[in-house]
Amino acid sequence: MKPVQKKFPAPYRYDWLKKAPSDLIVALAGNPNVGKSTLFNALTGMHQHTGNWAGKTVENARGKTVYDGRRLVIADLPGCYSLYADAAEETAAAEFLKSGVADLAVTVCDGGALERGLALFLQIRALCPKTILCINFMDEVEKQGAYIDIDGLSAALHAPVVALSAKKKGAAETLLPEIISLSLQPSPDAPSGADVFAEAKQLCASYVHRTRSEPKKSLLDRLLLGKWTAIPCMLLLLTLIFWITLEGANIPSALLSSFFTGLENDLTALLLRLSLPAGLISFLVAGVWRTTGWVVSVMLPPMAIFFPLFTMAEDCGLLPRIAFLLDYPFSKCAACGKQALTMCMGFGCNAVGVTGCRIIDSPRERMIAVLTNAFVPCNGRFPILVALITIFMSGSGQSGFISALYLTGFVMLAILLTFLVSKLLSLTLCKGMPSFFALEIPPLRVPKVGEIIARSVFDRILFVLGRAISAAAPAGALLWICANWQIGDGTLLSILASVLEVPAKWMGLDGEILLGFLFAFPANEIVLPVIVMAYTGLSSLAETPDYGQLGLLLLQNGWTMLTAVNTALFTLCHWPCATTLKTIYKETGSRKWTLLAAVLPTLCGVVLCILTNLFASLF
Ligand code: GDP
Repeated sequence: MKPVQKKFPAPYRYDWLKKAPSDLIVALAGNPNVGKSTLFNALTGMHQHTGNWAGKTVENARGKTVYDGRRLVIADLPGCYSLYADAAEETAAAEFLKSGVADLAVTVCDGGALERGLALFLQIRALCPKTILCINFMDEVEKQGAYIDIDGLSAALHAPVVALSAKKKGAAETLLPEIISLSLQPSPDAPSGADVFAEAKQLCASYVHRTRSEPKKSLLDRLLLGKWTAIPCMLLLLTLIFWITLEGANIPSALLSSFFTGLENDLTALLLRLSLPAGLISFLVAGVWRTTGWVVSVMLPPMAIFFPLFTMAEDCGLLPRIAFLLDYPFSKCAACGKQALTMCMGFGCNAVGVTGCRIIDSPRERMIAVLTNAFVPCNGRFPILVALITIFMSGSGQSGFISALYLTGFVMLAILLTFLVSKLLSLTLCKGMPSFFALEIPPLRVPKVGEIIARSVFDRILFVLGRAISAAAPAGALLWICANWQIGDGTLLSILASVLEVPAKWMGLDGEILLGFLFAFPANEIVLPVIVMAYTGLSSLAETPDYGQLGLLLLQNGWTMLTAVNTALFTLCHWPCATTLKTIYKETGSRKWTLLAAVLPTLCGVVLCILTNLFASLF
């Protein structure tokens, strides 16, 4: 097997970091999950991905800030436990520190796990003598009834020690003066970095005092990690997230739909007043505008609810608990338990999930995770499943909870397929033994609701929506052309659909449905709009339809429960979208593996649909 191109650690190009001689390069280092990204964001005003699980910082981030007239370039190093291990994160952090480009370093550590943080601090100081020890999570330290003697520790270490809560206001203002002050001092001799664990233990014994005994594991945590309760709890949680998404999305979807329909008439009137030719008006209104309106009204509401909920689950520490639960089945498939994390990231966006696979060190296991990431439905595919479930499976009179249960069922199927294909790959193209990894379970934390909503809207929803619209508008235009290009008796669209009819029939679908999936290659969000347009030829569809109208249209075009089930199965398993494939190519550096990443799910989808079709025809 060709090894995955080692994209990580990306060699830092250190030279350009320093633009002017007075620039101060500050390396931000620390164990994973100690609030480094939160502090980085507080210092630079940037929006690095934060989440309550170890190892999520897979990219090297740099940010700038100006303080006291000096420009500071903050280099956020990947979280690591030691500078002397072989993992990609460790190597990248050590390389940067060894290069000597940093004027000083800040070692961030969790006040609740000071010993581990101190051991890393002592190693870092041996490479970069000007190092500040930044003790984060002071709010939690206080709550746990611990007391850290900051002055005593600083005197013992002969180094500045800053205590703060990165999540609270004023963290940057506490740290920045210390950075400037240390930068002005002469560089001390680098102490030895040997025997650091014993020294860290001793320092903790001397300077950390407990006023109360350590808190016990919470009831919630006992349920979430319990032998018999863990899986039902996680399933319930997943169903709850889907239920809130489904229930919450209905009304805004209908409102957006009528908004776009209303504007469609105004837009037509305006274009008529401009004396544009009828063909062009139809192209713009029925092609570009309607597809875009469709994508926004069908996609935006579930996305605007699902993304923040998912981020909240991530932020309060549920992802590592899921990884803990799924570690055993993944190791049975000779894959890495960390794949559970990248799989969960795929629920948001498969391209993000694929990039996240960098947290897996073994190239073989990373490749398995990359190749199987598209098996979990991303945010662009959820609305298709939601629509199909609402129209065909749960029935209009049923509660949203039943729909949520169906959606959970489909997600379970996606996870099962991920296991099966991972196992298959580990037995064939990616042979080998599973590697061991230590997964730290962080404490459950209250998520930062306000920040999450803001971050979801600005960082994710607008980005994904922008991408969907930028794919929907040209796809709408192309569709209009295909629907209006008369060739003989039919249009180009109807001819394409009839060509696809033969394979589609085998799969219990029809030509228009397969056409929808093909046209939606740039963004999965537009599968349903394309299918609708292919049915109506853009002529009879007077407005952006809601679920009721959509159901009627699909039934009129011969859809049955079997068609809906097969469309849902093919939604779960078909080629990844263009962005994800581009990302897979970037990560693997290989056309062959990228092609395989497209062929694998498609093959699974085709086989599943054919089997379902055959099974249904037996009865
Ligand atoms: P990183 O992996 O080191 O980059 O850690 P993050 O910045 O992603 O933070 C991990 C988790 O700890 C997130 O859920 C943060 O919201 C949370 N967090 C960070 N700093 C603090 C803090 O000072 N107090 C509390 N209570 N939570 C924090």
